[in-house]
Amino acid sequence: MRTFSYVRATDVPSALSAIGTGTGAKFIGGGTNLVDLMREDIERPDTVVDISGLPLTGVEELPGGGVRIGALTRNSHLAAHPLIRTRYPMLSQALLSGASAQLRNMATVGGNLMQRTRCAYFYDLAAACNKREPGSGCDAIGGFHRNSAVLGASESCIATNPSDMSVALAALDAAVEAESVRGVRRIPLADFHRLPGGTPHLETELAADELITAVELPALPLAARSRYRKVRDRASYAFALVSVAAALDVQDGVIAEARLALGGVAAKPWRAREAERVLLGAPAGEKSYERAADAELSAAAGTPENGFKVELARRAIVATLRELEGSGV
Ligand code: SF4
Repeated sequence: MRTFSYVRATDVPSALSAIGTGTGAKFIGGGTNLVDLMREDIERPDTVVDISGLPLTGVEELPGGGVRIGALTRNSHLAAHPLIRTRYPMLSQALLSGASAQLRNMATVGGNLMQRTRCAYFYDLAAACNKREPGSGCDAIGGFHRNSAVLGASESCIATNPSDMSVALAALDAAVEAESVRGVRRIPLADFHRLPGGTPHLETELAADELITAVELPALPLAARSRYRKVRDRASYAFALVSVAAALDVQDGVIAEARLALGGVAAKPWRAREAERVLLGAPAGEKSYERAADAELSAAAGTPENGFKVELARRAIVATLRELEGSGV
């Protein structure tokens, strides 16, 4: 690991002052991803600004019925919180499906949003990787890419986003609150992460000098009836091959509202708006779920190595919606 300066921020203004323009500096909260990346010499900050002592923790109900989550709230705390378990169960389930108990006890909400891809070539300094070193190429294309993207990929990068939490947040229409010396702004979660295009090294809309301070969930009665389904190679401590975050409101046999997002299929949590459009007003049942899945996945493009994920996503969508319809939750 290279040498770096360490600054411990005591409040948000001191954190923003220490990060400066963000060039060569990084915030660290739980450190569950950044420390690994620094050990591997992939992240090379000159300065690490420790924000773990800032008062940005807690889960509180908002006047309109939504929920505000401090950016430094630990994943395990959020997953267990009664407000989240009862009103947004998909979020609790997504958090509990991620990483290990030890990591969830350290990882923060803000850090979870910012975690980087687990593409093996990204972590291999001997490999070409446009995300790590822009313009160097992409060894995953034509290489081992069984877990790569089937939606929204580009000729520059086919990596996926590893976060489970972000998939649920995308389905829930969450918003990220970010603060910088220019002020506070809100970024819709669905727009927070970027598709790779020709600039896969730019992964989010967050500026280098901005600090994530909170995530807000809107009041969403529908979300009390929601599920997160994660399909992976082993039962725990593995990233998603495909995941589905879904909520369903069925009135008199007709779908009155649906929320759907996919994980493991793209460089960002994939809000399945086309599937939602097909579901709205359709009769609840297998045929409608299949039509919705087909509509969303019509743009999916797999290779002989990762093409199985398209059918896997289709089946996971149908199974999750079927489960919700019959759950009576
Ligand atoms: Fe790098 Fe993306 Fe290619 Fe992986 S898929 S090697 S992260 S450019």
